[in-house]
Amino acid sequence: MSEDRRAQPAEPAASQRKPYITGNWKLWGTRAQAAEYCRTFAPLLDDPAADVGLFVPFTALDTVISALDGTGVTVGAQTMSGEDSGAFTGEVSAAMLTEGGAGAVLLGHSERRQLYGETDRALQAKVPAALAAGLAPILCVGETEEEREAGDMERKLRHQIGEGLESVPDDRLADVTVAYEPIWAIGTGQVATPDQAQEAIGFVRALVGGRSEEAAQRIRVLYGGSVKPGNAAELLSQPDVDGALVGGASLDPEGFAAIVAAAG
Ligand code: PEP
Repeated sequence: MSEDRRAQPAEPAASQRKPYITGNWKLWGTRAQAAEYCRTFAPLLDDPAADVGLFVPFTALDTVISALDGTGVTVGAQTMSGEDSGAFTGEVSAAMLTEGGAGAVLLGHSERRQLYGETDRALQAKVPAALAAGLAPILCVGETEEEREAGDMERKLRHQIGEGLESVPDDRLADVTVAYEPIWAIGTGQVATPDQAQEAIGFVRALVGGRSEEAAQRIRVLYGGSVKPGNAAELLSQPDVDGALVGGASLDPEGFAAIVAAAG
């Protein structure tokens, strides 16, 4: 190999991170609704420039996995246990998800944190457990309106990223995706400005860079919070915004496909 070739940087440039557009159905999607959604959605995916993920209820996983087979869409769950087995009624383990064909899992969504008491300490175990099982985790982080107004956004993100990624070895950091979701923007229609999204996501990337500069260049950091077909392109054009986590707007297959197309 020539000197010139050896001098190439090991890290891909920012533009080499493939966009990742993900939908979170939350508490929506009987198996019949899921099948109908996929019948509309699959034909709308015309060799997308982005990776696409759908996070659906446990009970709809197999329906969506079979209906989207061959489309390249990653299908995942919206939460999981950090435990393998035991007296944890109602929980689902990473192995149960992979056995069922799931490829990914959302972890630490603000609704899980706020409504079901999911803690940063629990996520510290869940993120590596997902990776070890072969699931691609999306770690969700973000501040409340009060925290933002008090100037506490960076402190909150530092804490959530520090704890959530603490037990992930440096060489696996880029296998995690982070979704920056300001809580004040989730389900409210009050989307962050592109500058706000860029600033927070740039900060998340810098935090990862504190562990590994190579991982910081490779890890994908998404924006989530009231993303719609009409605002997606501008958010996605920010240099550090690698994609979107879409809640409400992902329930409309045509609208979600339009957000996927906006990433191209
Ligand atoms: C979400 O559920 O993660 C989300 C961002 O929801 P919405 O797009 O509806 O704000």
